[in-house]
Amino acid sequence: MRKKIVAGNWKMNMNLQDGIALAKELNETLKAEKPNCGVVICTPFIHLASIAQFLDQDIIGLGAENCADKEKGAFTGEVSAEMVKSTGAQYVILGHSERREYYKETPEILKEKVLLAQKNDLKVIFCIGESLEEREAGKQNEVVKAELEGSVFNLSEEDFRKIVIAYEPIWAIGTGKTATAEQAEEIHAYIRSIIAEKYGQAVADDTTILYGGSCKASNAPELFAKPDIDGGLIGGASLKAADFKGIIDAFK
Ligand code: 13P
Repeated sequence: MRKKIVAGNWKMNMNLQDGIALAKELNETLKAEKPNCGVVICTPFIHLASIAQFLDQDIIGLGAENCADKEKGAFTGEVSAEMVKSTGAQYVILGHSERREYYKETPEILKEKVLLAQKNDLKVIFCIGESLEEREAGKQNEVVKAELEGSVFNLSEEDFRKIVIAYEPIWAIGTGKTATAEQAEEIHAYIRSIIAEKYGQAVADDTTILYGGSCKASNAPELFAKPDIDGGLIGGASLKAADFKGIIDAFK
């Protein structure tokens, strides 16, 4: 059985004090009422060590939003996978469309990051998804396939099994424009089919595929009810405990 997960991506929001307060509130809320799915919060690097001190990681996993494509050395301003791991974090988001677009992260760079993250025992949440132009041209399947082939289909079956995929159509991120549950299900099923082609049906059946893009408490139940949608990667609605909890409750 594959794992259901609701993961938050705080992006570049929350100063340290506000971030600690949010993580504490979530921790207390979810300790009092245990979630029916895995929950992860991915925060800015500088928050990780402080939050790891008190977060009950049996209930809420902690992750970074990125890591470097180099192991260590003279790379001013970068944060390595090993450093992330040493904070107590267990996860890392890689391949987010904002990293691909604004920081020019190519499939080759992402491939290196995935290898280094796994070398350091971080669980990778690997993002894929097409732009509006690509969707309008009917190229969404081609795009997600190329993104998987470019950065994670090189992995052994054992290592691929550790990856969580997040499908995030770029046109739905932060726009309030969610993919319909049918649109999302269609491409999730396609993603699972190409994983099956590459690694076999058993691996595909066990792979968690999250949906991301304007997911909120009101649309999560319909999205998560689809057979190939195993939860969500949440941006804006992960910044308030009540909003995030509302999405987690879709798994009630
Ligand atoms: P929003 O939920 O704000 O649309 O962001 C989605 C996202 O990019 C999560 O990684």
